[in-house]
Amino acid sequence: MNKEQLRKMKEQIEKRENAVELVLGEYCSQDGCPCGFRKFVFWAGKEQGPGWMDNIQNQLVDSARKLECFSKLEKYEKACWLEGAFYCKNCGTRWNYYSEEWRMLAFRKRLQIIDEDDPNKLFDEAIGDEIFATVGHEPSGKKALSLEQWVEFMLEA
Ligand SMILES: [Zn+2]
Repeated sequence: MNKEQLRKMKEQIEKRENAVELVLGEYCSQDGCPCGFRKFVFWAGKEQGPGWMDNIQNQLVDSARKLECFSKLEKYEKACWLEGAFYCKNCGTRWNYYSEEWRMLAFRKRLQIIDEDDPNKLFDEAIGDEIFATVGHEPSGKKALSLEQWVEFMLEA
């Protein structure tokens, strides 16, 4: 990777972080936490892969876990790829945090409300257009949103 490619990659990551933080900030200023927003429930918890990961979703999960409203649960039921659980001090919702290493050093992250239905079908199977896929395993038949479209989608009522 040359300097120019590296610079572009860093820029892309920063743009993604900023977009995610903007969305989470908006949720928290409205409600104190993101838990009540169905689009958050969907995007943080939807299924990824099998042959690809959604970079926006991974960033959303990582940034959400750092929100002040979430505290770590010490006790949770162990399950495959389950890395931890969180309790929302603002509204009482409990979340499972999954991180699946699907390729060497590449992870698919999900936050799911404990004891709730799989959020995968909440919205028309949208994904971010920033996808990292194994060649030949790119997602098909899904609506891909650019970062700007994603922010709009997440914030529209
Ligand atoms: Zn909450």
